[in-house]
Amino acid sequence: MWAALAGGVGGAKLARGLAAIAPNEIDELRVIINTGDDFALHGLQIAPDVDTVLYTLAGIANPTTGWGIADDTASAQAQLARMGVDTWFWLGDRDLATHIMRTHWLASGFTLTEVTERLARSLGIAPHITLLPMTDAPVATEVQTPAGWLAFQDYFVRRHHADPVRAVRFAGISRALPTTATVTALRAAEVVVFCPSNPIVSIGPILTLRGVRQAIEHREAEAHPRCCVAVSPIIGGRALKGPADVMLASMGFESSAVGVARLYEGLVDIFVLDESDAHLAPQIADLGMRPLVAPIIMTTPEESRTLARRIHRAVAV
Ligand code: GDP
Ligand code: CA
Repeated sequence: MWAALAGGVGGAKLARGLAAIAPNEIDELRVIINTGDDFALHGLQIAPDVDTVLYTLAGIANPTTGWGIADDTASAQAQLARMGVDTWFWLGDRDLATHIMRTHWLASGFTLTEVTERLARSLGIAPHITLLPMTDAPVATEVQTPAGWLAFQDYFVRRHHADPVRAVRFAGISRALPTTATVTALRAAEVVVFCPSNPIVSIGPILTLRGVRQAIEHREAEAHPRCCVAVSPIIGGRALKGPADVMLASMGFESSAVGVARLYEGLVDIFVLDESDAHLAPQIADLGMRPLVAPIIMTTPEESRTLARRIHRAVAV
């Protein structure tokens, strides 16, 4: 069994590749997903990163945005606007069905983990692939900007991640625990993959949950291979999408594959960086990680699968 840590779009792209080589090369995949982006809107519980992974693995994600459902329509959104509702957060008609049922099932007493499992199976995700929210407790990522502390979706969507970020905090994280399913997956995994997600606001909340680092460091899996692999979300100093590069820089980290690798020091054995960053490999090696240089841009499902295969071969060596 392999476990993967993922945020939204970048995470889902590698998760799709790992899912594509299961159950053959990998018998089972469990994807642990950031819930720090979750929020309530119009009374609905929205879990943006969970949904991005859900739709991507179900093969229904919008290929242009990477989030939302392909060919979704916006009749409800138009009607909300007509009613004078501020529609800063785009909600497609089909996407709304997910939020309605999540909200209903949560209100009926199911955990977010159980709700996510129901959604995954109802959308046809194969039984050897499990989507695990990192926690069932509320955690809310907030960013400190010159305009003050902002709720994550306010910063990211409403304000188009234009504010410089000085610090981040994860409200509720000291009380939240990772789910049992998350800890079990990490401890039992032969391989843990850190997907190319934003290291600060996507992977960061998962690693900050009490016990997660320890679960990765002290894994039980007897099977060979047994290691931890990270893929860089930064290529040539830039994020492919979103604010990871400017966020790293404004928080005092280096905006490069090396800057990301430093954040994972002591946890990761193999660090995958893009061919165009091959000159950084010695610096990765100096951090005690084995650098793996490969094409890491995943525009198509085939590119995701190819990268997953590369990782699978690398851990077997
Ligand atoms: P979000 O929650 O939707 O912002 O998504 P993530 O945190 O999972 O991913 C955001 C990161 O994904 C950004 O830093 C991008 O640079 C990275 N990313 C997006 N597409 C790719 C890709 O094809 N390859 C790699 N290596 N990184 C990617
Ligand atoms: Ca996200």
